Amino acid sequence: MTAPDADLQTELDALRDAARRLIAREMTPHYADWERAGAAPRALWRTMGAAGLLCASVPEEYGGPGAGLAHARVVIEELANAFVALPGFYTHSEIIAPYILKYGAQQQKQTWLPRCVSGDCVLSIAMTEPGAGSDLRGARTTARRDGDDYVISGQKTFISNGLHADLVIVLANVEGMSQGRKSLFLVETDRPGFSRGRVLDKIGQRAQDTVELFFDETRIPASNLLGVEGEGLRYLMAQLPRERLLVGMAALAGAQAAFRETLAYANARQAFGQPISQFQHLRFRLAELKTKITVAGAFLDQCIARFEHGDLPVDEAAMCKYWLTDVEADVLDECVQMHGGYGFMREYPVARAYADARGQRIYAGTNEIMKEIVARNL
Ligand SMILES: Cc1cc2nc3c(=O)[nH]c(=O)nc-3n(C[C@H](O)[C@H](O)[C@H](O)COP(=O)(O)OP(=O)(O)OC[C@H]3O[C@@H](n4cnc5c(N)ncnc54)[C@H](O)[C@@H]3O)c2cc1C
Repeated sequence: MTAPDADLQTELDALRDAARRLIAREMTPHYADWERAGAAPRALWRTMGAAGLLCASVPEEYGGPGAGLAHARVVIEELANAFVALPGFYTHSEIIAPYILKYGAQQQKQTWLPRCVSGDCVLSIAMTEPGAGSDLRGARTTARRDGDDYVISGQKTFISNGLHADLVIVLANVEGMSQGRKSLFLVETDRPGFSRGRVLDKIGQRAQDTVELFFDETRIPASNLLGVEGEGLRYLMAQLPRERLLVGMAALAGAQAAFRETLAYANARQAFGQPISQFQHLRFRLAELKTKITVAGAFLDQCIARFEHGDLPVDEAAMCKYWLTDVEADVLDECVQMHGGYGFMREYPVARAYADARGQRIYAGTNEIMKEIVARNL
């Protein structure tokens, strides 16, 4: 990212300040309770919306600020700095809402986007099924055309924001079309035949709800088709680089926050009559981590710049996702180690962050699939 101009920087600073204060006031004091409950409260979405912290890239005509990724990044960084692992906010704002913006009919955009910005509507995207994750062509959820409706049947799993979602973008196969020609549908969650399963018990990101969703002959009007029938997988392929960039952004923010926390700890913790940060092994490890984070930041900035210019290649987005989440994992592993036994205790932020970060190498396309994409483009 090139340095923002002075006006933009002032705007970003104000946003950062607002985000930091909101997180300290509304999230940090309750976070442990939400981790125990497996979800943050629904009301938090409207609080985020009212503070202008959702859907930075939604244009003004649909109620958003019409800003760019720099704004989204500020919110992601501030959540990371507070060790609040609620990736569902950026998933909603920067990954799912853009599908509606890009492929939605005018009526769909007018109906849903302002509510996504305000937090009145929570979004999920439901691609993964018990039998199909990496290989989405194998997804079995169906959409049967019946007069002016589609009837959706199937099951989805691991769906972020699924507990509170008001609208779910569902990947399904229109009956009669080949498995490779899936479609995306907007499914309101108050429709008969829709139900939510249990909140899944994850090792990390415990305050972020992740659930199973069931569609039992769920009838939606044909006007809920998103874009063109049969183009669903193509839309996913087109939008996944954006998702991978966002995950890379979150990974770097997580690594930076854990590094700062660990440096402070290593300067304060005494052993053998000196701060542990003075031992040469730890000094060198800290130097290596700082270098990794700096190099990762430069690559991320390059990817963001190319994305904003409209020319981020698919394989570079894949590199960004897998490499930055691997860097984050390395950094967090070392941060836990430098905390000694305290690093293994959940009351210490780096312990939670270590578990929270683990999912990053799995979702948005596993890191193995990312390497496949890179290899395919050699
Ligand atoms: C916290 C969390 C949140 C999630 N949120 C969502 C969400 O909101 N919406 C949604 O739709 N999904 C979501 N997912 C699902 C996620 O996208 C999938 O878990 C992921 O795509 C992997 O699919 P899978 O779990 O079926 O694993 P599989 O596809 O079964 O993979 C198992 C292993 O095999 C490897 N593998 C598979 N194919 C290949 C290959 N060709 N080459 C090499 N290795 C391969 C994988 O890398 C992995 O290591 C979420 C998952 C998690 C953990």
